[in-house]
Amino acid sequence: MIDKLLELQERDLRIFQIEKELRDNPARKEQMLSRMGDSKTALADAREKLKIQQSKIKMFDLEIESRREKIKKLLTDQGNLKTNKEYSAMTSQIRAVEQEISKIEDQILGIWDMAESHAAVVKAKESDLKGEDSMVQQDVKGLDVRIAELQKELTVLKLERQAMSAGIDPQWLVIYDRILNKKKDRALVEVRNGVCSGCHMSLPPTQKHDAKKRVEIITCTFCGRMLYA
Ligand SMILES: [Zn+2]
Repeated sequence: MIDKLLELQERDLRIFQIEKELRDNPARKEQMLSRMGDSKTALADAREKLKIQQSKIKMFDLEIESRREKIKKLLTDQGNLKTNKEYSAMTSQIRAVEQEISKIEDQILGIWDMAESHAAVVKAKESDLKGEDSMVQQDVKGLDVRIAELQKELTVLKLERQAMSAGIDPQWLVIYDRILNKKKDRALVEVRNGVCSGCHMSLPPTQKHDAKKRVEIITCTFCGRMLYA
């Protein structure tokens, strides 16, 4: 009976192992995917900085546009003026607006430089993320393959377990199952040098002796596991 139970236990321990890995799987996958979080944040930052410069350029473009309209209007008005004095006053007013335009154009050039360097950063971050993404996808794919294999193995193990249980004395099986479900670990442990290898306590001589006989169900006084020697 002991040998049959040991064989069963081998399956049960593997079942526990697989079930734990399957339970931990979603968290592991989550962790893999979160590796891209920093790169995503860096890319979003770079894009935001670029956007700010681009909207500044747009704003200055509009300012230039409105000044050009102003010049157009001044030129029309100038055609209707009567005196030379009025005319030259208007000319200097137009010059002043032209100078404003050229100042804004200089500012735009500076912003363009900044926008270009931000655009380069965006491009680099995009390529970082792409590289990282393909690595993570590969890892996730590997994990999915492993999970599928484990699930297949688990199905086989459970069928094997069912078939094996049929050949085990129900009295032994009930106790074994009860201890197994309580400990979630070995239910049947070896007596080594007079010590229970489940809880590492020294066993009374009678227990050692009885465990060696392998006839009756002997359980450890300390941890309750089934013993064999
Ligand atoms: Zn024990």
